[in-house]
Amino acid sequence: MELKAVYNELVNDHNMHPNNKRKIEDPTVTMRGVNPSCGDDITLELKVEDGVVTDGGFSGSGCAISQASTDMMLDEIIGRPVEEAKHLCELFLGMIKGTITDDEELSELEDAIALRDISHMPARVKCAVLAWHTADDMIKCRITK
Ligand SMILES: [Zn+2]
Repeated sequence: MELKAVYNELVNDHNMHPNNKRKIEDPTVTMRGVNPSCGDDITLELKVEDGVVTDGGFSGSGCAISQASTDMMLDEIIGRPVEEAKHLCELFLGMIKGTITDDEELSELEDAIALRDISHMPARVKCAVLAWHTADDMIKCRITK
């Protein structure tokens, strides 16, 4: 019960007041992420300079979970070296898949740990992982090469 309340509050907060739902200046990489099973459709923009994610933003629409998860993801990766950003994406995806369960390891995800229970709601998993998968692809395919 208690965990659920925290989860709802955080999701609500990020969904109602997404800090990162904005256009950024001169993005170095832009990618669209779509989850047809729910209708979530986001476009992520990242600015990477000297191996550091210096800015990021998103646009698009979708359910509360996908929007909140996208906002949380950007909060976590902006200001991080790309290696750390990639690590956080992998950590989040591992948490949702249930392959990473260590609390201490997962605490690196900060607010996003609130989405942990989504792993027990199969219909919402794709909503939660959409932004993280997209960012992971952006970092892997477009930046590190
Ligand atoms: Zn959704």
